[in-house]
Amino acid sequence: MKALDELTFDNRFARLGDALSTHVLPEPIAEPCLVVASPAAMALLDLDPAVAETPVFAELFSGHKLWAEAEPRAMVYSGHQFGVYNPQLGDGRGLLLGEAYNEAGEHWDLHLKGAGQTPYSRMGDGRAVLRSSIREFLASEALQALGIPTTRALCVIGSSTPVWREKQERAAMLLRLSPSHVRFGHFEYFYYTKRPEQQKALGEHVLAMHFPECLEQPEPYLAMFREIVERNAELIAKWQAYGFCHGVMNTDNMSILGITFDFGPFAFLDDFDAHFICNHSDDQGRYSFSNQVPIGQWNLSALAQALTPFISVEALRETLGLYFPLYQAHYLDLMRRRLGLTTAEDDDQTLVENLLQLMQNAGVDYSLFFRRLGDHAPELAVTRLRDDFVDIKGFDAWAERYCARAARDGDNDQARRRIRMHAVNPLYILRNYLAQKAIDAAQSGDYAEVRRLHAVLSDPFTEQPGMERYAERPPEWGKHLEISCSS
Ligand code: AMP
Ligand code: MG
Repeated sequence: MKALDELTFDNRFARLGDALSTHVLPEPIAEPCLVVASPAAMALLDLDPAVAETPVFAELFSGHKLWAEAEPRAMVYSGHQFGVYNPQLGDGRGLLLGEAYNEAGEHWDLHLKGAGQTPYSRMGDGRAVLRSSIREFLASEALQALGIPTTRALCVIGSSTPVWREKQERAAMLLRLSPSHVRFGHFEYFYYTKRPEQQKALGEHVLAMHFPECLEQPEPYLAMFREIVERNAELIAKWQAYGFCHGVMNTDNMSILGITFDFGPFAFLDDFDAHFICNHSDDQGRYSFSNQVPIGQWNLSALAQALTPFISVEALRETLGLYFPLYQAHYLDLMRRRLGLTTAEDDDQTLVENLLQLMQNAGVDYSLFFRRLGDHAPELAVTRLRDDFVDIKGFDAWAERYCARAARDGDNDQARRRIRMHAVNPLYILRNYLAQKAIDAAQSGDYAEVRRLHAVLSDPFTEQPGMERYAERPPEWGKHLEISCSS
């Protein structure tokens, strides 16, 4: 276990020089105080969880103090936002403080979000509000606990610094951890500004640091692109299987590592709704829940375009073609598990689609349905669930097929089935209204609820005595919260 001043740094991205990022110092926020810290994320840096309570912790992650070895940098990138190319984005309110490495030799980017203005801030104030910092913190750590690849969150530090959004709010900072902060938009920036040498420096860095096994392939860039396609297909399959809606899948918010990145107006589905749009500025529903699948491919083709200096168009096109079949295979595999099935049959896809259609029609709670399906043997479970559906005849027909399918599946021991299903079907998810309640309390200075919610979501598959209210369906008001895009 390390103390805070024992962190060791090796700032590999900073060494790529000023063409890729700019030195900027964080601008501190006033009266910093710890809102919440993640012991699991601290462990990634070998940090003793007790150090979160020390004053120096809040000072380091609010811009008041810096390690001597840190080299804060704002990265430059561009990207497609809502389908339209924006030639210059970049870290407008976040800084890569440096790369710390742990005893296992793993490097973690320390990225301080809300650290003040940079050359890429455009009209923005460089700040992040408490509300959005708490949402990113809770979402990253909740996704991690669900087994969905994501950036991590070390802590949120609150302050008394005022910031203006629709109304006056308080600034906060979030310390994000990720093995890399390189986005699809990084490659797009150097491609569209026609800087092949810098693009090559970026490409070689990413290959060497994050895809070293691809360097052994005859065409390293192609091997890397293939890996990125595979990881994205798997990631988006997990989002769809668990009802996660990212909300702003712009190419500047897509990680080169294929992990969930940059949290804005995201949401987990309460009632199942394939057409759900969590970002209320997304008028066209470009990033609606079901559109995430084709948008994943659209974003990969934007990356492919930027990689044309390294890879033939034909090879790129062929590799892009892998996305959809891989997505479908992963998705079906996950949904079979969620249904408690251990084998594969040809009709399983239809079984899943029919169920989702019935859920859609009746507004059935997406997460709780699967949890309850595992509570009892199939016949009893479906009897208990049928009242939630509107098309009862349709549900009965589905239930009959499901029970027959489950019976053919081999392992019919209910105790084992329950354990198997509960291990993949969370009881607790980050519902918008739960986040909102924790945020409301935090905004009046009470951080106990954020901490409790974080603790509950850190173990989402295990029933936790006394935490029943976190497993309930949302109240009616909680289903229609509008999450502001301004953060
Ligand atoms: P986002 O919507 O958070 O993915 O951000 C899109 C772009 O806007 C990125 O370049 C951000 O750095 C920048 N940005 C967002 N909010 C602010 C802000 N308050 N101040 C400066 N830049 C910002
Ligand atoms: Mg972003």
